[in-house]
Amino acid sequence: MFIESFKVESPNVKYTESEIQSVYNYETTELVHENKNGTYQWVVKPKTVKYEFKTNTHVPKLGVMLVGWGGNNGSTLTGGVIANREGISWATKDKIQQANYFGSLTQASAIRVGSYQGEEIYAPFKSLLPMVNPDEIVFGGWDISNMNLADAMGRARVFDIDLQKQLRPYMESMVPLPGIYDPDFIAANQEERANNVIKGTKKEQLQQIIKDIKAFKEANKVEKVVVLWTANTERYSNVVVGLNDTMENLLAALDRNESEISPSTLYALACILENVPFINGSPQNTFVPGLIDLAIKRNSLIGGDDFKSGQTKMKSVLVDFLVGAGIKPTSIVSYNHLGNNDGMNLSAPQTFRSKEISKSNVVDDMVNSNAILYEPGEHPDHVVVIKYVPYVGDSKRAMDEYTSEIFMGGKNTIVLHNTCEDSLLAAPIILDLVLLAELSTRIQFKAENEGKFHSFHPVATILSYLTKAPLVPPGTPVVNALSKQRAMLENILRACVGLAPENNMILEYK
Ligand code: NAD
Repeated sequence: MFIESFKVESPNVKYTESEIQSVYNYETTELVHENKNGTYQWVVKPKTVKYEFKTNTHVPKLGVMLVGWGGNNGSTLTGGVIANREGISWATKDKIQQANYFGSLTQASAIRVGSYQGEEIYAPFKSLLPMVNPDEIVFGGWDISNMNLADAMGRARVFDIDLQKQLRPYMESMVPLPGIYDPDFIAANQEERANNVIKGTKKEQLQQIIKDIKAFKEANKVEKVVVLWTANTERYSNVVVGLNDTMENLLAALDRNESEISPSTLYALACILENVPFINGSPQNTFVPGLIDLAIKRNSLIGGDDFKSGQTKMKSVLVDFLVGAGIKPTSIVSYNHLGNNDGMNLSAPQTFRSKEISKSNVVDDMVNSNAILYEPGEHPDHVVVIKYVPYVGDSKRAMDEYTSEIFMGGKNTIVLHNTCEDSLLAAPIILDLVLLAELSTRIQFKAENEGKFHSFHPVATILSYLTKAPLVPPGTPVVNALSKQRAMLENILRACVGLAPENNMILEYK
């Protein structure tokens, strides 16, 4: 059975006019490596830590500024939200299609809340805590191409033509602000597109971004802004001592107009200085150490990297399943071909390298979790290939071959072929990223040994379900396995309303 909403009644939870307050017992373990009579042994001590959470229930009017607004993802997301808001339906060759938010964790997935008279009861994920309604988001942003959003939607060739016709009047007047363009960081084949760029030194460009954010906020009367990079993949920037390794060095490098500061780092820097959450949806190392340093010092949310939309999402499910089943993946080979502008940009070796890196580490945590299968340091062969094939447009093909060793030296090969419009996978993920980033800035918590409430660490690991190469604070484990990432997110939100993690034990029926 499905219920639309619920309220938790518990001595541990209080709903006030402006907050949900909860007291939550976090059941965890403490590990000790002890010397007992000359031999070392591991001892696991269960422990309970009491946490208090408080969630501000005022849902703000939210503005979302996309870097690369006129791209396939930007125009698809903007059009998709308008279509939902306006209740648009359109004729396809199969049927009359209604707008929906399929593919969005917050808008289209469910959580289990319990069982009632022998039936499992589910509720929308978004009913856990008050979240911004995506229909009410005001979109804006930057693009190095000055094409309006209606034409950009046409250029993207993602939506059915009947839908495009209906969306056109809403999108024609939406024109991206000039963006920061540096041909050294994206593929040379993007140059033709760059007719809408901010002139000046790096510092002047950064100041323009700050001005743009302020003006957007003012003009649209939004209470909060989230900025998200969905522009082209850049090459990696060199991390150099004295240049971008610390906050002070990065800011000094900006004053010197150093060429190695990438456009994406400039946008992120502007956001951190303005305390505006910034999310990176592409694979490049926007978050150089000096930038992370600044975000931590200013307690300004940053999250990334690279949307986890298709092939990698499957990988982080399949490898988790295989390793979890005691099967040993030994070779993982992933081919992609796509024909959109992202594919064209990735056809340059330096930008492809960024994607290759972000796609390559996604099985590490799963491999490292099982020393019965893998010797220390042993790793499956893992190869990623991306080719640009214009004809297929946004409809990306991903082909994967997983070879594993099974019982008694046997080999098992699984082959996947995935065809899908890339932007239809990415747009709902962008939505989740901005909604969850906004929500997480309204949550405060403290452990029993902490005096004061504080927000989550500014490096937002809570978003890792949605990213291919989750950015984590220095010294924090990276989790790539999809089910663990989802459980982490859901369980933290459950804790905010005093609900225990979903443990799937269903002891009531045993
Ligand atoms: P796209 O090429 O259609 O759109 C990118 C837009 O960014 C273009 O309109 C371009 O003009 C603009 N742009 C480039 N540099 C800019 C800058 N410095 N400032 C402002 N605008 C700039 O690409 P897309 O398909 O929308 O994908 C966007 C990004 O998302 C890519 O980096 C891609 O790798 C990443 N990504 C996409 C998916 C997916 O499933 N679609 C998944 C993971 C990551």
